[in-house]
This record gives sequence, structure tokens and C-alpha cells, in this order.
Amino acid sequence: MVYLALKDVNKIYPNGFHAVHDFNLEIEKGEFIVFVGPSGCGKSTTLRMIAGLEDISKGDLSIYGKRANELGPREREVAMVFKSYALYPQKTVFDNLAYGLSLQGVDEDEIEKKVNSVAKILGLEEYLDRLPRALSGGQRQRVAVGRAIIRKVGIFLMDEPLSNLDAKQRVTMRSEITSIHRSTGATTIYVTHDQTEAMTMADRIVVMRDGYIQQTGTPYELYFEPANVFVAGFIGEPPMNFIRGIVRDGGIPMGNSIIDIRVAFPEIAAEYEGKELIVGFRPEHALLGKYEQSYLLTAQVELTEMLGDNSNVYLTMGNDKTIIKVDPHDTPQIDSTIEFSIPYNRIYLFDGDSENRI
Ligand code: ATP
Repeated sequence: MVYLALKDVNKIYPNGFHAVHDFNLEIEKGEFIVFVGPSGCGKSTTLRMIAGLEDISKGDLSIYGKRANELGPREREVAMVFKSYALYPQKTVFDNLAYGLSLQGVDEDEIEKKVNSVAKILGLEEYLDRLPRALSGGQRQRVAVGRAIIRKVGIFLMDEPLSNLDAKQRVTMRSEITSIHRSTGATTIYVTHDQTEAMTMADRIVVMRDGYIQQTGTPYELYFEPANVFVAGFIGEPPMNFIRGIVRDGGIPMGNSIIDIRVAFPEIAAEYEGKELIVGFRPEHALLGKYEQSYLLTAQVELTEMLGDNSNVYLTMGNDKTIIKVDPHDTPQIDSTIEFSIPYNRIYLFDGDSENRI
């Protein structure tokens, strides 16, 4: 059952700035959806329109099949967790968790039961008597999440809730939020600019850029079937390598090598002869040495980074720069010349003008 639907939703701010264009999405009950994209792409604006904190300029929002554009935030049955934890500094953890319920007039026994149950889910039982200032960043963030999940709502909206935590706390909270989502079964929309957070947490990801959706799909789909250069470059770390070139005699030069498009993609080679094409491959899909059913390339090693589980090797091929990932034991010498292969089925081709995947 579709729980929440956005149809051709637009946001034009009073100053005339068009922040969100024709946003379309249907969310099933229980899904974990992540909006991801660079700063300023319209993620928070979209989330705030769902929450009822911003008007929808054009288009329809429906919750359980009913138009919700005109409903106030409370009537929408959503709970939001913001970037800043916004805890009450003078109230204990218990009172911070209980506050929303007291306002709703829930009786005290019930409040105590709910606070204890949420504190248990979030591992906050020992801290219920403390004030927020006596908690770590991660613990405060858990209280903020707890305040959202303590109310029985249909949908949780989270706007970069981990942005104030250090790298290690973020990784811990990431898995905590995912397991809270599993145990509560709540529909969640989560905003982040971090592709790793998106990939690890989402059932489906919505990639945004300049107010437009670029692609909606599972982490698997976005990684293996990116719709365009932007998504291909945004998902994956280090990002996908791209080489632009005009197809001449069926090939695109890369330094001293030529990627002969005709060999693996004869129809595309014919269509793009004399036109610009973008060839993409992921650093982790390159193989040192020569392999069958692959393009063989030659490059100079500029720099290497040993990361433990693999090494990043920065290469130059004429004017083109690329990165490949190799087994750390195979890390080549700086300044050496190497050969590497990219299997045909790991090559991505994009139109040089539209940058859409072919
Ligand atoms: P970030 O990750 O930096 O929070 P975001 O993707 O969430 O970015 P939004 O906060 O949704 O982006 O902002 C989208 C665009 O709308 C930005 O260019 C921003 O400057 C603009 N914007 C936001 N609020 C207003 C406003 N009240 N009036 C005019 N423009 C606004």
C-alpha cells in the first residue's frame, strides 16, 4: 500500500527561487527512503514540505491516499529529527523524552512505560536522570531520535541527524537507526549529503541535484545501473572515472591507449562516430594486467595510497587522470608504467551532450 505520495511537487520560495522541480515519489509503508545530494539541492526543502513546515507551491502530497497539502504538521502524523538535537537543556533525559507525551495529556503511568521502553531500545536506561550537557554527542542524538519514536506516528523524517557526530559515532548511530527502523517497522525518510550513509541505510535512494530528482532506486540499482554521469559519479568512493572523447574510427583515445568501442558496443560505435561520448569505469573494477573480454590500458603511476584493505592508485594517461583500486600487495611503484584491464561488462557509456547513460 502506498503510504505517502508526492506528485509533481514544486517549491518556489517567496523570493522567486525555484528550489524543487516536479518531485515525484511513492513511498510504501515501512520503507526507509534516503534523499541524497550535494548541499543546496533541495533535500531539506522537500522534507519540510512533507512535514508541513513549508508550503507546497505546486503539486500534491497525499498520505494514505488522502490529499495532505493543507494539513497542519500535527495532523500529518509525522515526527521529525533535526540536525541540531534541540533538547531542552534544563530537563533530564526522562523529561525530554516524556515532554511530547505530557503535552498530549497521556497519563503518567503510560508515559513512564513508554519512556522506559524507548530508553531500552536506544540504550539510554542509565542516563534517564542526566541533563543533556552530561551526555556525549551520540547519546544526545539518541535522545533526539527517542523523542521522535516515542510518539506513535506514521512517518519519521530525519534531516541529517548524524551531522554533529564524529566519524566513529556516525558509523555506530547509522546501524542503530537502521535497527530501530527494523524493530519499529516505521516508514522513514532520511536526508543526508553522504553517499555512504545513503547506501548503507536505504531501501531506496532518491538522488537530487539543483532541485531535480536525478534517479530513484535501490542502492544496488544506483551503483550498477546509474542513469547519468551525475549519479554514477556521486555513488561510489573513490568516484567513477570518466573519460570524454570524440569517437574516431570507432575508438576513443586514452593517453597512449585506445578504447575501441566497436569491439564491445558496435551499435553505439556506429551511432556515435564523430560525436562525443563519455566512457566511465569504477576504480574497483579495474584489474592489473591483461584479461580477456576487457579493454587493455597503459598508464603512469602518479601516486599510491595504501588503505589496508586495498590501495588507491592515481594514474595519468596523457591528459586524462584516473584512479584504480588494487590489492595492497600489488601496489605498483610510483612513476612506473602499468597495464590494466577493464572488463567490457564494467564499462559505462554516456552521451557527451545530455550526460545520460546509453
Ligand atoms: P543542505 O544539505 O545544505 O541542507 P539541501 O539540499 O537540504 O542542502 P535546501 O535547504 O532544501 O537544500 O535548499 C535548497 C535551495 O533553496 C538552496 O539553494 C537554498 O539556498 C534555497 N532556500 C532554502 N530556504 C530558502 C528560503 N527561505 N528562501 C529562498 N531560498 C531558500
